[in-house]
Amino acid sequence: MQILRSTTELQNWLNKNPHPAFVPTMGALHEGHLALIETAKGGSAPTLVSIFVNPMQFRPGEDFKTYPRDEDGDLKKLKKVGIDAVYLPGEEDVYPHGRAPEIPELPEVFHELEGELRPDYFLGIARVLRSFFEMIQPSVVVFGQKDYQQSRLVQWLISELQLPIKLIVNQIIRQNDGLALSSRNAYLTEDERKSAPRIFEGLLKTKELFDRGEVSPRRLERFLMEYLQEDPLTSDIDCLEIRDAETLEKIRKIESPAVVLVYVRMETPRLLDNIILEV
Ligand code: AMP
Repeated sequence: MQILRSTTELQNWLNKNPHPAFVPTMGALHEGHLALIETAKGGSAPTLVSIFVNPMQFRPGEDFKTYPRDEDGDLKKLKKVGIDAVYLPGEEDVYPHGRAPEIPELPEVFHELEGELRPDYFLGIARVLRSFFEMIQPSVVVFGQKDYQQSRLVQWLISELQLPIKLIVNQIIRQNDGLALSSRNAYLTEDERKSAPRIFEGLLKTKELFDRGEVSPRRLERFLMEYLQEDPLTSDIDCLEIRDAETLEKIRKIESPAVVLVYVRMETPRLLDNIILEV
């Protein structure tokens, strides 16, 4: 596994390994990330993983400084799964001279949901991805369904910039009790950790209700809201919405695949989860 720490090292590696399968991460790697890497390894392209905590997607007061970082641990995990190279750029490599790439105007849906909770968050993600995609020219990129709205942003960016990149979205990897793995789960208190599986339980129960014939998004949202509010530790809900799975537009009735998106605020982290309602 090659360790690349600058644009020059990356370019030298790309000369011999063009159009890799690329998995961008912010590090503090867990089984969710490793599953994306396994998917990337499933193709014939060389595999490249990046670790970069992107300052552009944090706002003042968010956890940029304290975001979990564990370079040694991450490198050990990556060596074990066996990738071709890991890219650990500095800020100057990603944003030369402090300049971030221009992004066409984001569709309205990216100012909604998580985009409303964290203004400019998706713009910051689009910027880092455009920088990476143009530098790396991957043939394949792998993202997690865990960050559902982000995966739709990636698809939009690829289409908008007409990049020849195939997007693969990997299923959510969970702990045995259902909690979706996340680097930020490290912030949970013991009590919050005990309550956190209620989020996925609620999503499963919502899906059961849908599978039994309930197609009203509002009634399904109300059901999930009430289920989460039964436990004070999952009752602080930043966002809970059912949207069209493809466009993320609002819907009045579920007639094509939909996604239940939920963001629960704990003391420190916000827990994200989602489930698809297949028609
Ligand atoms: P992050 O390091 O949090 O920016 O995540 C990097 C990638 O890993 C993103 O595409 C995430 O959607 C994905 N990811 C994070 N957690 C999970 C999970 N539990 N299951 C699957 N993918 C995940």
